[in-house]
Amino acid sequence: KFQRAEALDRLPEQFFARLVGQVGRLQAQGHDVINLGQGNPDLPTPPHIVDALKRAADNPQHHKYPPFRGHAFLKEAVAQFYLREYGVKLNPETEVAVLFGGKAGLVEISQCYLNPGDVALVPDPGYPDYWSGIAMAGAEMALMPLLAENRFLPDFAAIDEQVWDKAKLMFLNYPNNPTGAVANAEFFAEVVNRAERHDVLVVHDFAYAAIGFDGSKPMSFLETPGAKEVGIEIYTMSKTYNMAGWRIGFAVGNEQVIESIQLLQDHFYVSLFGAIQQAAATALTGSQDCVRELVTTYERRRDAFIDRLREHGWQVEKPAGSFFCWLPVPEGHTSLSFANLLLERAHVAVAPGLGFGQAGDGYVRVGMLDSEKRLIEAADRLALCCPAKN
Ligand code: PLP
Repeated sequence: KFQRAEALDRLPEQFFARLVGQVGRLQAQGHDVINLGQGNPDLPTPPHIVDALKRAADNPQHHKYPPFRGHAFLKEAVAQFYLREYGVKLNPETEVAVLFGGKAGLVEISQCYLNPGDVALVPDPGYPDYWSGIAMAGAEMALMPLLAENRFLPDFAAIDEQVWDKAKLMFLNYPNNPTGAVANAEFFAEVVNRAERHDVLVVHDFAYAAIGFDGSKPMSFLETPGAKEVGIEIYTMSKTYNMAGWRIGFAVGNEQVIESIQLLQDHFYVSLFGAIQQAAATALTGSQDCVRELVTTYERRRDAFIDRLREHGWQVEKPAGSFFCWLPVPEGHTSLSFANLLLERAHVAVAPGLGFGQAGDGYVRVGMLDSEKRLIEAADRLALCCPAKN
């Protein structure tokens, strides 16, 4: 009866809804499914952050509307955090916006900068929410394949000059979901260079900021000289502090772009519950031991899972960051057929690479988000179901 807006009809189908349904069905039948399909951190928020929320919830100041553009103490904490962690100076008033999770910012940016017919460069494979914002704006995507031979970095030289000229936005994400790749200073310098030359606004999604392995810490895009002139970074509390359920993140960087996001948000929201903002500030400025412990846990899990797969004869690269293993599917399989086989026969749920774009079809994404014991069990089930051919 009600005609939906065209913008809504352009939204891509939620690829992972089906996987969730399949897992639920098997579990309801009593099967012990090891669910490594979603990217939902399994560990709880560190207690000192939860305590900060509880205390702040008692403060009547937070029972009123929060300030429109977020509390000054939080934006100050974000600026302190960037300076301490990355040596990046941010003006808390003009270069920081508080977001309802990184996801909101990643969709909002397209609303702010894309008109119908405009072009946005997106990684393939990539996080599907980049597509949603672009689709709602009626803009087009130009895909940048992330290939193993390029260490899952886009090959800028392979992008047509005409595409560069039309492109208004470019999404990047390192440490990368789904490939687990990490970018270096040289790559980010090239990004700034291209962005300046072609007048492209760069949106660096830094969701897995803290999760770098083998002693190396992932770089913020804003550490790159000139980055603030060409772009922003989206930071989220979800992964660094196991706060995915709290829905809080930040956009930081170019002042003009931050102002656009703020303007849009002024009309959608007031801001987040002040107690959540207080707890986030505590997380950013308090002891970072919890983050170090988290990274150690993820590294142990990565090693447990992949070492076990290697013992079974599978040749698998260890990701340098994130909590994902980007596993090439065996010959004769597509990402969907292999993910289905694993789910139905081994009761191990993984995400088919096709859900992240065409270039992902040769892979499945394994979210290493269970105990080492369960991950080893998953590797055993996987190898039993599909023995390595060598
Ligand atoms: N970006 C990437 C690459 C992600 O994997 C996620 C979450 O899974 C997000 C952004 C969104 O994070 P949030 O909305 O929880 O801040």
